[in-house]
Amino acid sequence: MKNKILILAGDGIGPEIVTEAVKVLDCLNTKHRLNLELNHALIGGAAYDQFQTPLPTSTLEAARDADAILLGAVGGPKWESLDISVRPEKALLGLRSELALFANLRPAILYPQLADVSSLKPEIVAGLDLLIVRELTGGIYFGQPRGIRILANGEREGYNTYVYSESEIRRIGRIAFESARKRDGRLCSVDKANVLEVTGLWREVMDELSKDYPDVELSHLYVDNAAMQLIRAPKQFDVMVTGNMFGDILSDAAAMLTGSIGMLPSASLDQAGKGMYEPIHGSAPDIAGKNIANPLATILSLAMMMRYSLDLPEVADEIDLAVGRLLDQNLRTEDIYSAGCNCVSTQQMGAALIKELH
Ligand code: NAD
Repeated sequence: MKNKILILAGDGIGPEIVTEAVKVLDCLNTKHRLNLELNHALIGGAAYDQFQTPLPTSTLEAARDADAILLGAVGGPKWESLDISVRPEKALLGLRSELALFANLRPAILYPQLADVSSLKPEIVAGLDLLIVRELTGGIYFGQPRGIRILANGEREGYNTYVYSESEIRRIGRIAFESARKRDGRLCSVDKANVLEVTGLWREVMDELSKDYPDVELSHLYVDNAAMQLIRAPKQFDVMVTGNMFGDILSDAAAMLTGSIGMLPSASLDQAGKGMYEPIHGSAPDIAGKNIANPLATILSLAMMMRYSLDLPEVADEIDLAVGRLLDQNLRTEDIYSAGCNCVSTQQMGAALIKELH
C-alpha cells in the first residue's frame, strides 16, 4: 500500500533542512521499496505571500489526505507585523486542531558524543534518553471562558480556564503508557494535584489506566518537583506525561539539557497514529540561507515518522544509528561544534548521512 507523505518546508531554514531530509526519504524509499508518495505544499509565511493565509485550504486538504506530514519550520521577521490571525505560527495551531493532533511526543536525547555541548555536567546528562508526552489540544491553552474583563471597580482582570475531560486524559494517558511499554517501562505523570482539581482528576485517571498496563511502572510528581528533578538528575526518567501547559515548559527545559536545539525531533499524533513530524526549533532567521543549519533534528523527525506512523521501526533504527555514526566521525554543524571536530555545512551533513545509509 502506498503511504502519502506531505512535505511542508515552511520558512527561514525550513527549506534548507527539509531538502536534506527529503534526500534521506528518497534514499530509503528506493533502498527498501517503501512505496512512499511525496507531495509538497506551502505553509506559514511562504503560503501567506502567495495566498494571503498561512494555512491555505489546499494545504489543509493535502494534510488531511496524507498519512504523515514532515514540517520544517515557520515564521520570521518579514511576517511579524501581520495581524495575529494570519501570522505564520497560526498555521501550526490550525493544523494541530484541524487534524486533532492531541499527542505531542518530544524525546530529549543527548548523544554521548555531544555531552560537552550541554550546560550541565557531562556525567549528569551523557546518554540522556527521555520522552516527554504532552497533551496538545486541551487544557488551559484552549479552555473557555477566557479573556480580559473589566471589574466593577474599573480594574482589568485576565482569566483562563484549566479544563480536562476524563476522555481527553485517558487518550493521552494511553499513548504515554504504550510509549513506555516500547521503552524502559517507566512512566512518570506530572500534575499539580495538591492545588488544582483538574490535575487531581488527571492523577486519578492515570492510576485507573495503569491497571491496563501492569508491565509499566507508574509514578507521579508535582510539576514543581518535576522541574527540579529534570535539572538535578534527568536520567532517572524514561517517559513523562503531562498536560499542555506543564508539557510546554518541561519539554523546553528538557530540550535545553541536551544543549543542542538542532538535534531534537518531535511528533504530534492523532488517535489513529497519523502524525506531523518536525524539529523542535523554529525557522532560525538569523542563519537562514547560510547553509549552516543543523538538518539532523529534521532527519531524526523522519525516524519518528517511520516508528510512529509508518510502522517501520527497523528503518527508524537505521536512521538513528546512522546519525550516531556521523557524530562518531566528529562531523558537526556549527550549533553542536566543539574543538577538534570537523565543522560541516547543512548540505555536507545531509550528504554524509546519505553515504552512511547506502
Ligand atoms: P529558533 O528555534 O528559530 O532559533 C533559536 C536559536 O537557535 C537561533 O540562534 C537559531 O539560529 C538557532 N537554531 C535553531 N534551529 C537551528 C538549527 N537547526 N541549526 C542551528 N541552529 C539553530 O527560535 P526563535 O529565534 O525564537 O524563532 C524564530 C522564528 O521561528 C520565529 O518566527 C518563531 O515564531 C518561529 N518558530 C517556529 C516554530 C515552528 O515552526 N515549529 C517553533 C519555534 C519558533
